[in-house]
Amino acid sequence: MISPYFCERSSELFWLSSTHRAPGQEVDHTMSVSKLAASIAESPTLKLNEEAARLRDRGEAVVHLGAGEPKNKAPISAVLSAASKLNAGDVKYTPTDGIPSLKKAVIRFTEEQYNKVVGYDNVIVSQGAKQALFNLLYALLNPQDEVIIFAPYWVSYPEMVKMVYGVPVVVTPEDGSFHPTMKDLEPAVSSYTKVIIVNSPNNPSGIMYRPEFIGELVEFCENKGIYLIMDDIYNKLVFDGKAAVSPYHFTSKDIESTKVITINGISKLYGMTGFRVGWAVASKELVTIMTNIQAQTTSCTSVLLQAAAEGALTGIQSAVETLRMTLENNRNVMMQELASFNGIKTVKPDGTYYCLPDFRAYNGKSVELSQFLLKKALVVTVPGKEFGMEGYLRLSYATTVKDVKQGIERIKWALDPSSPNEIYIGERKLVRDWL
Ligand code: PMP
Repeated sequence: MISPYFCERSSELFWLSSTHRAPGQEVDHTMSVSKLAASIAESPTLKLNEEAARLRDRGEAVVHLGAGEPKNKAPISAVLSAASKLNAGDVKYTPTDGIPSLKKAVIRFTEEQYNKVVGYDNVIVSQGAKQALFNLLYALLNPQDEVIIFAPYWVSYPEMVKMVYGVPVVVTPEDGSFHPTMKDLEPAVSSYTKVIIVNSPNNPSGIMYRPEFIGELVEFCENKGIYLIMDDIYNKLVFDGKAAVSPYHFTSKDIESTKVITINGISKLYGMTGFRVGWAVASKELVTIMTNIQAQTTSCTSVLLQAAAEGALTGIQSAVETLRMTLENNRNVMMQELASFNGIKTVKPDGTYYCLPDFRAYNGKSVELSQFLLKKALVVTVPGKEFGMEGYLRLSYATTVKDVKQGIERIKWALDPSSPNEIYIGERKLVRDWL
């Protein structure tokens, strides 16, 4: 299914990108900010974090199932590496595309994770995968170029595409499995299609696309000359003995001519969200363009944070396995708790921090439901609408087992008439009077 929402938007964007002032025509000062900028949505996940922090500051016993970050500490090798730079007082600009020693660590990561050998010129380090993606879209798109995004999608993709005057085209798998197929994709492809973005394992559903689909997609993109962005920031956080497949495995083209571009970072891999380091691996030509974009906007990522990323990537990797095992255990607990909940359908996540249960049996409006759960049960969830999946809620298990259990118990209390109608939240006994 192709989202009509974005088709409507595309005509609006066409207007935005194609209206030029005629000679002699005055600038309209009544509209004081850019229409495009004003149309960019706020980040719902960051907003929810702020709301939860406000409630916690007021002493409310909030359970946060909205978070996109785990509770672990940064690996010690990362902390020591950044600290030694700081102690030396050696904090200056770095090369725009990243310090060579970090790029070397990324080259190794790429070889180990993807079995792909790339060079220094194929790597650019940015301030998080977010900036790497933005720079990449800026580098690739002309106004009106279309970018295919599979729903459920990470909230920032459509907004980023809009910010560079592209048109997001959303493809939703018909069967509710969250697994897109080539049959879902093909009707959405047009002569304007420039890019397809894949995020697998996927935020928010937690599922990993089937290797056959990745293979078909790579072949399709290589044949049609469409760029395939693989946002792979969860690809080591996979459960049940599975492993993410390397997209490079499905192409015989070298890094200079393949359409496959990979994005990674340390935020999810090591739970180092606040360090803000991510990277892209692409052709030399694209990396040069992205470097120019970065040079004119942020100059470079802080040397302290690059040192931390290098420390994490070159240190002992046990932190990743510990995080992965914690997440897998929490996922199991969440699945168990949700299974006892009448009316909710859940696809079991293969990885990531999240699952995306279908709450339509209780309320088809996810924003309303999420607000209700925060108000009545003090549980933070993220409305599925933000991910292109109305009627669903994203629940994060990147928290403690206690919070997972309490959170689901409270949601059950708030929604399921078969659950006891009294609950303790902190010291307070609450009685349900709305079912
Ligand atoms: N891609 C996806 C799918 C994400 O979930 C996130 C963060 N939530 C990012 C990219 C951005 O990661 P970073 O913190 O490295 O900017």
